[in-house]
Amino acid sequence: MTARKGSSKESKGKVVRRKRREMKVKTVEEAKVGVFLSDCGGQIAKILDFEALTNFVKTVPGVALVARGSEFWRGEGLKTIVDAVKTKKINRVVVAETIPKISEIAIAKAVEEAGLNPHLVEVLDLKDHCAWPHRNTPREATEKAKAMLLAAIEKAKLLEPVEKAEFPALKSILVIGGGIAGMQAAEDLADMGFQVHLIEKEPFLGGLAAKAVRFFPTDDCAICIQSPATDLKTVTQTSRKCVYRSGFSEIPNLSVLTNAKVVKVEGGPGNFKVTVERKPRYVDEKKCVACDLCTSVCPVEVPDEYNAKLIKRKAIYINKPLVYPPAYAIDAKACKFHECAKCVEVCPTKAVNLDQKTEHVTLNVGSIIVATGFREYDPSVIKEYHYGEYPDVITHLELARMLDAFGPTGGVPVKPSDRKPAKRIVFVQCVGSRDRRWNPYCSSICCMISLKHATLIKEAYPDADVTICYIDIRTTGREHEYYYEKAREMGVKFVKGRPSEIIHDPATNTLIVEVEDELLRRLLELEADLVVLATAMVPSEDAKELAQILGIELDQDGFFKEYNAKLRPTETKRRGIFICGGAVFPKDAPTASLHAHSAAVKAAKFLMNGKIVKDLKVAVVNEDYCGNCQFCPVTCPYNAITLEPKGDGHFVAKVSELICEGCGVCVGTCPVGAIELRHLKPSQISAQIKALLSINGTSKPLVLAFSCSECGHAAIDSSGMGMMSYPANVRVLRVPCTGIIQVQHILEAFKAGAQGVMVVGCKPDGCHYEVGSQKAQKKVEMAKTLLQACGIEPERLEMFNLVFIEGDKFAEAAKAVTERVERLGLLQLA
Ligand code: SF4
Ligand code: SF4
Repeated sequence: MTARKGSSKESKGKVVRRKRREMKVKTVEEAKVGVFLSDCGGQIAKILDFEALTNFVKTVPGVALVARGSEFWRGEGLKTIVDAVKTKKINRVVVAETIPKISEIAIAKAVEEAGLNPHLVEVLDLKDHCAWPHRNTPREATEKAKAMLLAAIEKAKLLEPVEKAEFPALKSILVIGGGIAGMQAAEDLADMGFQVHLIEKEPFLGGLAAKAVRFFPTDDCAICIQSPATDLKTVTQTSRKCVYRSGFSEIPNLSVLTNAKVVKVEGGPGNFKVTVERKPRYVDEKKCVACDLCTSVCPVEVPDEYNAKLIKRKAIYINKPLVYPPAYAIDAKACKFHECAKCVEVCPTKAVNLDQKTEHVTLNVGSIIVATGFREYDPSVIKEYHYGEYPDVITHLELARMLDAFGPTGGVPVKPSDRKPAKRIVFVQCVGSRDRRWNPYCSSICCMISLKHATLIKEAYPDADVTICYIDIRTTGREHEYYYEKAREMGVKFVKGRPSEIIHDPATNTLIVEVEDELLRRLLELEADLVVLATAMVPSEDAKELAQILGIELDQDGFFKEYNAKLRPTETKRRGIFICGGAVFPKDAPTASLHAHSAAVKAAKFLMNGKIVKDLKVAVVNEDYCGNCQFCPVTCPYNAITLEPKGDGHFVAKVSELICEGCGVCVGTCPVGAIELRHLKPSQISAQIKALLSINGTSKPLVLAFSCSECGHAAIDSSGMGMMSYPANVRVLRVPCTGIIQVQHILEAFKAGAQGVMVVGCKPDGCHYEVGSQKAQKKVEMAKTLLQACGIEPERLEMFNLVFIEGDKFAEAAKAVTERVERLGLLQLA
């Protein structure tokens, strides 16, 4: 087990003081609870006996006021609460209200304006958690409502104010990756007024898009972006522009560093200190006028990787005309440096500097966007296709270079072996993808790339014989199916089958593709001048290293993992770090561009105020108890905990108030109870356990259900909303995440009278706090073992993983657990 030690250097939040009255609440005043009972517009008055509830609440110590109404979260009802806080000096507010989440927000806002800390409010749902599911047993429902109200009041009495803190946030952003997504995000943010640093590991911007030449489905040039708003010449004329002619480099608050990579990141959200290593270019970008004199004298020639090694370039080179930056670069692996120095002599602007050294640049930024793209899989590992062995077996990117008019063959597809035009071309789909030996996933864009290249060839050379061997052709995007139809109409042939072998006939210098046509059920031997492999698209080479430096996760395929694929597709688990484009998964240009816009908006939203404001609903460590066990730092799903030295050789856990999400997973992990949540103390959990189990009022044994505030609670809500019945002996205690639950909470419930205990959380792979549900399951297993050792049936305890739409499953589970504990008989604790 390893834990981060003292690496947190993030800025400390400045606590925003609320009105001083709260301090009195905490230190001097006794809790004066106001209880506001809503019958939800009369909806539940026929089920719950509100007279009995009112009389009951009045008897609870600490209750200073009870009010009844139809709704308390708006209008006159809300005014009643505000008035009670202002004039009757109520300092804890308990509201039984419908739609608790919305109610809670409105009530908390109102009480704050009235001068009370908004976290001294407790809202409970008597409709969906009591009246509706128990409508057939109104008397039992009323007794359960009493228990729920008592639990809310007892918790409210123990509530403590939670402060708000402000953390400074720099309005500057680092974008890593100068491909289409990185450039688009950088341009968006610079246009919005942020200071943007765009870094690219290669000497030139453009990434894969620059090499790919054209994009489907429009067949237009790949390397265009939405024009910068700051480019006055273009903004009124067109919505997109070639990046080389877009004014991109002239956006005032955008700086571009090429040959650069991130080597270290310190600090935290809003204040990252990033160390960037910049390899020498050996040519001063500001002085170089791209006159090309240097290449004419340079004696060194090497295969040009940018152009699929089909031609050679000099040791000093530029990718192609109009590339950014428009300055030459020296290939350090090829250059003879001072042995030669001919370029130095010939350069008219003295731009060449062979003594340039690697530099380290420090960038202070508020957030980071990762747009490092993807790359082609190296198919040479797939022995049956002989890539790297037969020169005429190439990849799509290599074909793209041939189809570029600026490319090595001037736009003509040729056989690399003899440079003769390729007339018979076979494309092989899913090379290294959808294949468990290499990459199990579908790379999603390779079918369209093959269709694009096939149609481009047929357009230029109608007599060319073009065949695509496929497993299935996937054309799921808008206009993509028309693209497929167009290819068929142009005479592109399709063979359903994955080729088993590519053979080279040396006598004719012809390739033979062996494939079984699955539709016609016959073996084919397709003769080809050129075989193009539609390879898998895989994560960029440095993805793993960069993820480690940034402290963010990769998915099972090695791409950067988003926080939530559906709702937070450009965020990562580390606040302030965003991802977009092909770094997340292979994408076509429109989708990468869309993703980049989204990441830019998220980053802008994060920093736009120049500060991050948050309620300090976070974990706190009691240093006197912390035993330096290192459990919590490795357990926290957000890496919010570091170990700080105490000076005596010991370390204590320290929670970052900025990063902590307040889930409580660490609380459930700490073996000595040294860490707790500000907004849910152990005493509040115990008080609720006792209160919920102090009144039964039914003929059935009491069951306590610990539920998380997310999917678990939503499932229980939906059970009530859907009028699904379950017995009133089942009581619910809400916690932020089931990960907070400790074995002792479960034992406490049994001790307080529960005959059965349920733990209701998210699905293990859908936990809102990543690991909470899994941790809870482990705690349940441990508690079962302990129960068994004490002679108590472990079946009395069970965990359920539900989602919102599974209210019926909660109702079934509540019934099943009740019946089970009834069968087991009364639990006798010594
Ligand atoms: S110094 Fe290097 S880049 Fe310059 S001309 Fe000589 S080999 Fe070429
Ligand atoms: S409450 Fe959750 S996010 Fe905060 S430190 Fe504990 S485990 Fe981490």
